[in-house]
Amino acid sequence: MELSVIIPIYNEEKIIEELYARLEAACSKITKSFELIFVNDGSKDNSFIRLIELCNTHEYAHYINLSRNFGHQIAVTAGLDISKGKRVVIIDGDLQDPPELIPELNNKMDEGFEVVYARRRSRKGESFFKKITAKFFYKTLRSITQVDIPLDTGDFRMIDRKVVEALKRMPEKNKFLRGQISWIGFKQSAVLFDRDERKFGKSGYPLSKMLKFAMDGITGFSDKPLALVTRMGLWVSLISFLVILYALYSHFLLERTITGWTSMIISSMFIGGIQLLSIGIIGEYISRINTNVQNRPLYIIESTDLAS
Ligand code: UDP
Ligand code: MG
Repeated sequence: MELSVIIPIYNEEKIIEELYARLEAACSKITKSFELIFVNDGSKDNSFIRLIELCNTHEYAHYINLSRNFGHQIAVTAGLDISKGKRVVIIDGDLQDPPELIPELNNKMDEGFEVVYARRRSRKGESFFKKITAKFFYKTLRSITQVDIPLDTGDFRMIDRKVVEALKRMPEKNKFLRGQISWIGFKQSAVLFDRDERKFGKSGYPLSKMLKFAMDGITGFSDKPLALVTRMGLWVSLISFLVILYALYSHFLLERTITGWTSMIISSMFIGGIQLLSIGIIGEYISRINTNVQNRPLYIIESTDLAS
């Protein structure tokens, strides 16, 4: 098997035909030995029925049907685990990532790279809010981690089998594939493209999922937030110590005790806020330790036409 393409599918029934046709055309330009692995991530529409029809009539199409919705990153991981290609492409199933770019990614790989990611030159049909929060997030992430996570890049990329095997050895349950692939290293390069609008349906990444994904990225690759808690604690302690000295001085030496509700309420609210924030940050790490210690399987496959 020369090439595997992994396509996570969540409520994409209307475009599966077009998606398949464009993927087949693109991959045929590279090799005749390829597999298109559609991972149905608990779609609520008829995506799975469409996939079965597709797989029954087209030799390159294969499916993995997960037992429920596990999320995009896990769906892709399921595909990676089962794929056999010497090279593997990860691509979105909503046609925002143009399949026609795959031969270009492949040419770049031939120049001797193990990872070629598709970097967005432009981004159509995405809300201002999404673009601005994404930009802020990746800037922050880059500044607090050692891992060189490329900007304007999603998961659309081609990777070598070596990278897939390395990914399989990273057993964390909170997947942040773009960070993991950067962490793995090897020679990496980029190809520019214009990202299309979503053809049909709506994004499967509402704000709540985006926030969780962002926290997975941060906690998975940086301990800086924990160091921040320590530093905040030190500063607050220092300030409190000075205030205590002043309070004692004014009570005993000046014999003037300030009768103040304002100062009391400000200080207790301030400390309360800092404490809750700190506990929250620590909690984000602990909940991920918990998930990893439970060591449940990452996903459950209900059915597939591929041998694992
Ligand atoms: N997806 C998935 N599981 C989910 C959400 C999304 O497999 O829980 C798939 C979806 O079908 C698409 C890809 O992941 O192929 C990217 O999702 P989406 O387009 O919703 O994200 P966005 O482009 O808005 O960031
Ligand atoms: Mg999309």
